[in-house]
Order: sequence, then C-alpha cells, then structure tokens
Amino acid sequence: MPYVHDTLERLRKSSPAQTEFYQAAEEVLECLRPLFDRDPYYHDHNIIERIVEPERQMMFRICWTGDNGRVYVNKGYRVQFNSALGPYKGGLRFHPSVTSGTIKFLGFEQIFKNALTGLPIGGGKGGSDFDPKDKSDNEIMRFCQAYMSELYRHIGPTSDVPAGDIGVGAREIGYLYGQYKRLTGRYEGVLTGKGLDWGGSIGRKEATGYGAVYFAQNMLKARGENIEGKTCLVSGAGNVAIYTIEKLLALGANPITCSDSRGTIVDNNGIDLALLKELKEVKRTSLEQYLTKRPKARYIPATDYPDDGHAVWRLKADVAFPCATQNELTDTDAKALLQNGVTCISEGANMPSNAAAINRFLNANIAYGPGKAANAGGVATSQLEMAQNSSMEQWPLVKVDAKLKDIMANIHQQCADTAEEFGEPNNLVLGANIAGFRKVANAMIAQGVT
Ligand code: GLU
Repeated sequence: MPYVHDTLERLRKSSPAQTEFYQAAEEVLECLRPLFDRDPYYHDHNIIERIVEPERQMMFRICWTGDNGRVYVNKGYRVQFNSALGPYKGGLRFHPSVTSGTIKFLGFEQIFKNALTGLPIGGGKGGSDFDPKDKSDNEIMRFCQAYMSELYRHIGPTSDVPAGDIGVGAREIGYLYGQYKRLTGRYEGVLTGKGLDWGGSIGRKEATGYGAVYFAQNMLKARGENIEGKTCLVSGAGNVAIYTIEKLLALGANPITCSDSRGTIVDNNGIDLALLKELKEVKRTSLEQYLTKRPKARYIPATDYPDDGHAVWRLKADVAFPCATQNELTDTDAKALLQNGVTCISEGANMPSNAAAINRFLNANIAYGPGKAANAGGVATSQLEMAQNSSMEQWPLVKVDAKLKDIMANIHQQCADTAEEFGEPNNLVLGANIAGFRKVANAMIAQGVT
C-alpha cells in the first residue's frame, strides 16, 4: 500500500539516522495494512502521518560535576509523543547508547503499549546518554538533580509523568523526585516508581516482570498448557529480569539463566534469586560473582558470541523471556530457540527481537508475546500509582496484584481477539498493533485536528 510505504520513506528523510525508530514504526505500520485495506477511515484522517510524529520533543544539555571536580556534559531528552488517551506516560532511560532515535522508538512503542492497558495514559519517553556504571552515589545524585533542573518545567501529574527504565531505578527516582520538589515546592504524583514510604505503589517494582510472566501464562493457557515445571530462559539482570525470575520460581517454573552486558549465567538448578538480588540490587556488580557462591553454575562471557547472538538463547528450554534490551535477540538466536524446543516467548524488554526473529517466530506459529503487550504490566501499575497518588491512598499488594493480573489477561484477550478478527489467529503482533492503534487513532479523530 503506497500510503504506508510513502510514510516510512518520508520518515527516513525527515528524521535521518533513527534506525530503531524506523524499525518500530515499520513493524506497526506493516501490521496496520489489513485495517487500512478494509476501511479508508484512518487514511481519510491522515492518521498515519500524524501518529508517527511526536507532539513535542525536548533536547537539552545536562552539566554535572564529578567527584574529581570536573564538569561533565550529557544530552537529555524527553519526547511527548501522543496525548490522545491521557497524560504522556513513559520511563527515563540512562544509558550511553541512548540517542534521540532511541528515545523516539521507545516513545512510539509506549503509545500503543499504554493504549493496550485500557488505562487513560498517553505515550512519552525520556532519558540521557549518561552512563551510570561505576559512578558514585553522589555523582548519580548530582546528575539526577541536573537532569530534573531542566525536565521539571515540562512535566506535571496531569500532563507528563516519567518513571524508570534501564539505568533508572528507585534510587534515581528518589533523587529526581527530591529535585522536582525542591524546584516546584509541590509534593505530587509527578513520577512513578517512588519509594513505598513516600508515594510509591506496592507492587510497582515487581510489576513489569510479574506481568510478563502473567502474559506467558495467558498465552500458554490458550494452548492448554501451564508454566509450572517449564524450563525458562531469561536474559538481563535488571529490575525486569529479577522479578520475572521471582514470579517464575513462585509458580514452580525453572528459570536457568540471567545475563548482563558482560556475560551469561547458566544455573540448571534454577537461578538463586537472593544471590542475584544481592549482586544487582545491593552491590551493583558483575554477574561473574555469582560463581563464588554457586560454583556449579556456568558463566559464559559475552565475548564468546561477538557478532550475532547471545548465549542465553542457545540452551534447551520451553519458554523464553527476553528482558535485557532492544534487538538482543537476532534471527540466529530465533533459529536456535526453535531448534531447542522453545514454544513460548514473552518479551519483558522493549523490542528485544529484531524483525527477522519476529518473522521466524510467527512462521513457526509458536506463542509469541511482543513487548508492547507482554511488558505493559509495568506502566499499567504506574498508572495505578498515579491513581493512588491523586486520591492520597495506598492500596495493599493483593489489590494491586489482582488488578495487574486482570490487566494482563485483558491485554492478551484484546490481542488474540483482534488477531482473530483479521484472520490471523495467534498473531499477537498484529493483534497488539491493530488493537492499540485503533484506540489511539479513534481518540485522535474524536478530538479533531490538533
Ligand atoms: N519503562 C517502562 C516501560 O517501558 C515503564 C514506564 C512507566 O512506568 O511509565 O513501559
């Protein structure tokens, strides 16, 4: 269809060198073809061209002082992509690989993810190319304060509500929140992922990982299966991976891997969760240290797979949870996963599988849950935190967890029903993209040309 093709071509020209963004946009737009073929309605309103353009993008300088007295400079970003369904909502990523294209791809994905939750939240994302690795606590604090000194003027509890992502956890949210409060004099729900004693929601920290497991349970249930007793591969060792592993262990599955940028741990007896938390949440150190307490585990350095692929995906298993980062799972990995018997994939990270890998999963007709559906539990629980903040309440874990389970089941159902409606049952990529898009597009049309 020339409309989709032309829009993508125009994007490549007007926003050069944003490859991850084109990848995300292409996936969504290609999935929308059957919708446009069926009905000229969205085309008539030129929704495609409108939806791929952020409403607003901020890019700013962040200057901060290191412990050595030197002044450092980083780039800061916030993309306010789409507010058709509610205030901009989406995390902040601090990682040296971050560019404006990264933030744009993440913001774009966030629009449809947030729509799928069924909650009133628009899509946004932010971050910086700041590298938190090996920085002291004081340096992290000064950086967060500097970042918020610019960001505060663009956000608010009913306009734009940032949260965490890679490199931004409870500690960073604390420093960012403190600076917001100092600058504005307001104590309000302007960030989510806050500490439990000062406005955070119980269950938010665990929600992305738990949600990805609930999504896998829904996919398995639809095929008459269960997660119990299944061998699982998990990549990553951050917040999402840790709480995916925690929920898998609680449900009687056997997660045997986790990984960081330097290497992969394989522990056939099941990952030692307490040890993983100690290494990554307390000591913030390399996974290699895992072996000192679990000598029977194996450590595979990332350098063993230098070009195409990742050790995590080369093992025999039933279910896989990519929870590290975008494009961590290549076509070669996908082939290996299928050969090794994996029949269900639930993505905890954003866009972890590249386009070729996704095609391979879809052609093999396995249960494949794309990130924008499978990892939506995090942002959904962020919205629950916003609801608690605005009513000055704190809900108990049973309430938050029950809502999370419901939301994940709902997302799965919407994706499955929409896939069925368009004649491709089991294609949850198609289902997620069309279901998310329709909600946002209908709201945009209802609100007129803005
Ligand atoms: N960074 C998470 C995501 O990718 C959570 C965003 C939020 O809670 O606002 O969805």
